[in-house]
Amino acid sequence: MANLIRCASCGHWNDASLTDCAECNAHLHAEKTKRAEARLQHGDSEGNTWEFPIIQVKPHYPWYVKPFLYTARAIQITGLAIGGAIAWSAWWAAA
Ligand SMILES: [Zn+2]
Repeated sequence: MANLIRCASCGHWNDASLTDCAECNAHLHAEKTKRAEARLQHGDSEGNTWEFPIIQVKPHYPWYVKPFLYTARAIQITGLAIGGAIAWSAWWAAA
């Protein structure tokens, strides 16, 4: 039996390979497409935030905040570098 997809506007069951409802001509995969697009857009913005969690110094931040953020970022990057070095040496020691 072929895959069936239910029309969202009239409730008629159509073959899933169809793009439009045979009964009312409404687009059958509209919901699915919309959700996939939303996930794509969401994924993009999310990807930037957790991919590499370095402190961002935005231009609109007040001048007295920036030195602290730059210092914090320097410490963070140093920490990541040291952590990376330790991970590397541990890996080499194990090999
Ligand atoms: Zn329909």
